[in-house]
Amino acid sequence: MAVERTLSIIKPDATERNITGKINQRFEDAGLRIVAQRRTRLTREQAEAFYAVHKERSFFDSLVGFMTSGPIVVQVLEGENAIEKNREIMGATNPKEAAEGTIRADFAYDIEKNSVHGSDSPETAAAEVKFFFADVDIVK
Ligand code: UDP
Repeated sequence: MAVERTLSIIKPDATERNITGKINQRFEDAGLRIVAQRRTRLTREQAEAFYAVHKERSFFDSLVGFMTSGPIVVQVLEGENAIEKNREIMGATNPKEAAEGTIRADFAYDIEKNSVHGSDSPETAAAEVKFFFADVDIVK
């Protein structure tokens, strides 16, 4: 299986509760390595650009409001099959549908405030990593 990189975001509902370490423990326990990391706060423009694919969706404005409401941690996870593995560890978008033991099942408040983001394909992973990090920021 190929070694991949994927973009992970710990969302404002999780930074607010001071559980970034608990969440990152899940990634490291699963064999993923944090090879870049930054705590930041998105501007409205950045959040709109990052979620541009959802621009026409009814939840877009609320999502942008939530994602700019507090600090986030953006990070690159690296490992075998990292994109799919991260999605498995995160669980389904809606915590009510998330499998037992996943981050969203254990920590998410609801379908919007769901604690984590993870890229969903190799193409989006490449674009999303580039959105936040330069090559020089990523250190194995
Ligand atoms: N979202 C929302 N309402 C919805 C669906 C999604 O607020 O009905 C938010 C939620 O925070 C989700 C993000 O929009 O994580 C991106 O949605 P996507 O369908 O890409 O889910 P993900 O890939 O994050 O599981």
